Amino acid sequence: MESMLSSDFHVKPKKFRLFFIALLALLLGVIWGGTFYAMRLVRQNLESSMRSSIETNTVVLEEHVSRALDAVGARMDAVVALTPRYLEQTPTQAAAALKQLIYDDRVIRSLSLVDARLRVVASSTMRNNGVALPDDFLPETKTRPGSAVIDFGRVFPYRDLYEVGQAPVAGAENAFWMVSSPVRVGDAVYHWVAALNVGLFLNLWDRSSNDPATAITLYDYAGQVIATNREQPKVDSSALSAAILEQVKQRLRGSFEFGQSNRLMVSYRGSGDHSVIMAVTGDTVILAQQHAESLDTYYWAAGGLTLLLMLITFVLYRWYLRYELSISELSNQAKAMGAHLIISESDPGGRIVGVNDAFLAVSGYTREELIGKNHRMFNSGMYAKSFYMELWETLSAGKIWKGTFRNINKARRYYWVQVTIVPFTDAWGKISRYVALYTDITDAIVQSEKFLRERRLREELTRINRELVSDSNTDALTGIANRRAFASFSDQIIKNTHHSAYPVSALMIDLDFFKTVNDSFGHEAGDVVLWELARRWSTAVRTSDMLARVGGEEFCVLLHNSNSTQAVIVAEKIRAITSSQPVYYDDPATKRTVEIPITVSIGVATAESLREVVMDELLRVADAALYEAKHAGRYRVVARKLE
Ligand code: GH3
Ligand code: MG
Ligand code: MG
Repeated sequence: MESMLSSDFHVKPKKFRLFFIALLALLLGVIWGGTFYAMRLVRQNLESSMRSSIETNTVVLEEHVSRALDAVGARMDAVVALTPRYLEQTPTQAAAALKQLIYDDRVIRSLSLVDARLRVVASSTMRNNGVALPDDFLPETKTRPGSAVIDFGRVFPYRDLYEVGQAPVAGAENAFWMVSSPVRVGDAVYHWVAALNVGLFLNLWDRSSNDPATAITLYDYAGQVIATNREQPKVDSSALSAAILEQVKQRLRGSFEFGQSNRLMVSYRGSGDHSVIMAVTGDTVILAQQHAESLDTYYWAAGGLTLLLMLITFVLYRWYLRYELSISELSNQAKAMGAHLIISESDPGGRIVGVNDAFLAVSGYTREELIGKNHRMFNSGMYAKSFYMELWETLSAGKIWKGTFRNINKARRYYWVQVTIVPFTDAWGKISRYVALYTDITDAIVQSEKFLRERRLREELTRINRELVSDSNTDALTGIANRRAFASFSDQIIKNTHHSAYPVSALMIDLDFFKTVNDSFGHEAGDVVLWELARRWSTAVRTSDMLARVGGEEFCVLLHNSNSTQAVIVAEKIRAITSSQPVYYDDPATKRTVEIPITVSIGVATAESLREVVMDELLRVADAALYEAKHAGRYRVVARKLE
């Protein structure tokens, strides 16, 4: 995962999708491009591959034929060697030996002996002399010369001895190929003539190559077809054999093309002894068709690969979508945290690797000044070494540490933070870095410190207030502080609040038309009124504030840590409880209780900071405010602030 604070911490969906599509297109391009290219190559090489397959067939055929002819040659030599014995010495035994010789021979199907005039002397088959010779080469045969004459100038198809009288095998007429071998007995010249089963070669060849496009044909040197395994359709066979003969005259072996629309590829071999021409013909149309079919496998393979690729892409893409979703989720979480919290990241060694903007704001540094530095730079020296040891012990154990720091910023001012440090681990569980989430609690701390200081001040003033209660400080009539006590109390306030920027207020209270009270009810009644009001007002002010009688019927209240608004509230309260009910006076002369209605006027003065003002100035402004209240019609509160 990227750093929480890194600007790269988000996915680029457009880029990724484009990449996916490009990769898919590339792979598909490679697959199909490769396929088409391979097929083009195959098509280009079609001619040569057809030619080579026909050449191969010809070589195989030639091999078969020459091997068979070798075997026949060896047999014929043996037959020739037996001839003198057969004709002159031990005909019966020789006949048996001859019979045995061809009995198990699969290529030589019949054997005939002819004299110089080509009359059959003896034969293993009836056809050659018209006489049935079931016991083959019986001595009587030579005494009855046959009538059939064999034309040695050519070889020709012949039926198998053993199939005489039977129906031929469907579709496969066995062809025979005659070979002869001269033999001299005494002065006479004979020839042995063997009928070879050509169909056997063809079968052999068919077994090794069963290809409908190609045909093999054996020709004699007159261009007559001895045997063929398959007719080439739509081909003028006499023109073909003429063409082959023409070629053989020029070169004993070779290949050429024949025909126009039904083009054949012809590969031929003439035998050196002019006995046979072997030809393999391939129909180029059918061969091309076969190639086209083999090309289909390329398409199938490419199609299969395409499907596989699509499947893999689909699976990968789904994985990617899940990844993308979780990345954006993480990114949003990080964003939310970054918006709410101050965050820093450090490597396992405690060096800062990243900070968010909130961190910069609170610390006063720039990012460049912080990266690579140790978190120690914020240490304000508040905690002992053991504090930090405990912190590192917790973190290196992979646990989350929570606590409070008093840090020092670039301007060397303290700021308080509540911290949660989380060790981040990599996929293997190894700690890769520490992420610290801070909340700035400086305001709360300052607030509570101020609150504490205020409480201490109040307690101190209350204590002073009590200490002032002595005869010399107390007004004899009302029992509250006198002018002297008021003076020393205001000194104390100045001293105690010296370093604070607390506001302070003074209330000047004067009874309205008090002379009239004295005049109406007597001086003693006036005293009672003064005593009663002092009692009522004492309940309206805090024990840490001072209410004092500073003149005959003039009172003053000193309110510490009270701004103008708060002071006016107190003044209004005093004004209200003064006139809420009359003062009752039991007149000893008349023995009657009289009700004396009283109102007050109050001047309020406030200084926002006591440091900047002397107490006398405060009282002077309060007096001026009181004077204003009187002139405005009495029974009211007028508030003034110090300039
Ligand atoms: P106002 O303040 O509304 O202008 O009218 P006032 O009649 O109250 O006038 P002023 O404050 O100037 O009068 C002060 C009077 O208060 C003079 C005196 O008769 C009376 N006084 C002063 N000290 C005492 C005291 O200790 N006892 C009694 N009974 N009266 C006093
Ligand atoms: Mg008065
Ligand atoms: Mg007065």
